[in-house]
Amino acid sequence: MHFLLSNDDGYFAPGLAAVADALHSLGEITVVAPEQDRSGASNSLTLDRPLSLKRAPSGFHYVNGTPTDCVHLAVTGMLATLPDVVVSGINNGPNMGDDTIYSGTVAAATEGYLFGAPAIAVSLAAKSGKHLDTAARVTRELVERMLRDPIRGAVLLNVNVPDIPYDQLKGMRVTRLGRRHKAEPVIKTENPRGEPIYWIGPPGGAQDAVEGTDFWAVANGYVSITPLQIDLTAYAQQEFFTGWIA
Ligand code: MN
Repeated sequence: MHFLLSNDDGYFAPGLAAVADALHSLGEITVVAPEQDRSGASNSLTLDRPLSLKRAPSGFHYVNGTPTDCVHLAVTGMLATLPDVVVSGINNGPNMGDDTIYSGTVAAATEGYLFGAPAIAVSLAAKSGKHLDTAARVTRELVERMLRDPIRGAVLLNVNVPDIPYDQLKGMRVTRLGRRHKAEPVIKTENPRGEPIYWIGPPGGAQDAVEGTDFWAVANGYVSITPLQIDLTAYAQQEFFTGWIA
């Protein structure tokens, strides 16, 4: 078995090392992750400059690019064969609901998925969470299950793990994405030259968080597993717009 690991928090992130440790006895591991924290990079590719691929003393590879660059480069320019599973994470913080649109963690997994590898994005659903070991153990269990019971066709799983001890987990739930309230406004401040600068503000709180959503599962002590797809077509509106343009 060959696993490709990436993330968006950077090759030095504890969550990445935790996944590598959790999976290392299951097969061969290649790690290709961003040189810097690229959280929020979404599915961006770096097209305005070349990329470099370097190897850290840990054996992890790092790229001066985005999470998507890392998996793209690994699959198309580095590895001889497609990895058996692509794992992205463990992210420092949740990736639920609308987060998935912005997430570099989900994007790295998506890139593997688009190339045909089963892919899992894993997030510990608390910023600077205390229970990375819980998420690492869940990741291993999911990968073991995938190996035991291989899935036909392309798979992209978005996994969020509550930040609680493993033995307090209530189990796993297959969920749909919830929705957040609108994001908080940008934060305006000044640079040392007195010019205005802006920081992107925090995401909104959970709005659609009823039972069945990722937000609900995590808030109630369950690991949330949302199968994702990439087709953004609004099928329910196709008929309306067909009339609208007639
Ligand atoms: Mn991140």
